[in-house]
Amino acid sequence: MDFDLFVIGGGSAGVRCARIAAGHGARVAIAEDRFWGGTCVNIGCVPKKLLVQAGEYGAWADDAAGFGWSIRKGPHDWTALIAAKDREIGRLNATYRRLLDTAGATIFDARAKLDDPHTIDVGGTKVTAERIVIATGGHPTRIDIPGAELGIVSDDAFYLPHMPKRVAILGSGYIAVEFAGIFAALGAEVDLIYRQPLPLRGFDHDLREALAEALGSNGIALHPGCTPERIEPHGTNRRRLSLASGHAIETDLVFFATGRRPATTNLGLEHAGVTITPIGAVAVDEHLRTSQPHIFAIGDVTDRLNLTPVATAEGHALADSLFGNKPRRISLENVPTAVFSTPPVATVGLSEEQAAKKGPVDIYVTRFTPMRHTLTGRARKSLMKLIVDQPTGRVLGAHMLGEDAPEIMQGLGIAVAMGATKADFDRTIGIHPTAAEEFVTMRTRTRTAGA
Ligand code: NDP
Repeated sequence: MDFDLFVIGGGSAGVRCARIAAGHGARVAIAEDRFWGGTCVNIGCVPKKLLVQAGEYGAWADDAAGFGWSIRKGPHDWTALIAAKDREIGRLNATYRRLLDTAGATIFDARAKLDDPHTIDVGGTKVTAERIVIATGGHPTRIDIPGAELGIVSDDAFYLPHMPKRVAILGSGYIAVEFAGIFAALGAEVDLIYRQPLPLRGFDHDLREALAEALGSNGIALHPGCTPERIEPHGTNRRRLSLASGHAIETDLVFFATGRRPATTNLGLEHAGVTITPIGAVAVDEHLRTSQPHIFAIGDVTDRLNLTPVATAEGHALADSLFGNKPRRISLENVPTAVFSTPPVATVGLSEEQAAKKGPVDIYVTRFTPMRHTLTGRARKSLMKLIVDQPTGRVLGAHMLGEDAPEIMQGLGIAVAMGATKADFDRTIGIHPTAAEEFVTMRTRTRTAGA
């Protein structure tokens, strides 16, 4: 065999796996045909957060008057922002490649496909490997309606030549609510069109309600319970989006944030005997092994919990297990996550609805105006919530909507994963004055739920 390990895909999962395996002394090759660092670095988490931050500066300029500053906000320069973002992404891109190089991995800037269970065709060259890792990630999808090709997906949003004046976003998952906040904060009129009564299906109900209210107070027009029917060209470069209700929205841009699909086509998986699920994900067991015991899959291509830190953790654990003599598995329980909406949402553990199905729980909820906004006058409230198992006192879930929620939730994630009880939270002294201290000072139960 030419290599001990061949990794297909240079995103968060693949790069980490290749780098750590090479560090353990394995002969590693990795192939990537688009951009090193994958979705997260190039057209996902990283540039998205920079765009969110661009919006925050605008809001701070508006809010500064409440603190005695007179700041006159000029127009926002989208082209300058995208150029600055591209410089940073270019730097990160090169860093990822260099990390692999330094670790001693053989790098192929080419598309790789499986010819048989041990042979990979990489840009026309045939190589063989003892073990293979599929880390090809996923891609955004449009729903199947007439005129869908007239809309964009998140990949395109990072390279728009101009900032649109009006945007219609379809869906209300992570990507939809994040981009609704970005476009609104940068001055666009935003319509958010979704089929559920509230955004972020699957998240805690109180959090979803508070988010809908926050999106509304940011000036985003919410269209719950709506199904898009078709898109047509309208005037010069505009679009007309018709909804099943008969209502139509005229807009500059229609943005499909309607989910992502695993990237498993044209990979030759069928030549290697690797089974895929009905939705096209690579099926894996708890050791990340596919239907072929020497072929593994990690990250979004497995479509379980599609988050970058999960993908990198899987890549690292797999490399340690295969080549580092440190077999270990990644738990997908109590994984903290954040949605970088404006303001952001962050959560760890169970929602009230999930917890209540398992047994009786005590619910603690608090809503308050963050200190900053007592002077700015901005209508923005934070929400914090704890779900506590009644018999044991264990905190089963922590949820927050509000500024700094992702920063706060990272620490709470440790406590919840360690099995901390409400009593542990209560005896922790708060840091004053912060929003975070609310998590250790919620003394009065709001209600009970569950059996
Ligand atoms: P999500 O799966 O989160 O949301 C998809 C949205 O599209 C939902 O609102 C869904 O509605 C809607 N939808 C799907 N099919 C249809 C349809 N046929 N008609 C109408 N609406 C439809 O996908 P995203 O694209 O937002 O993000 C993909 C994943 O990427 C996330 O789940 C997350 O794992 C990851 N991600 C993580 C981020 C982070 O960590 N901050 C940021 C961005 C992405 P419904 O709810 O009714 O099904």
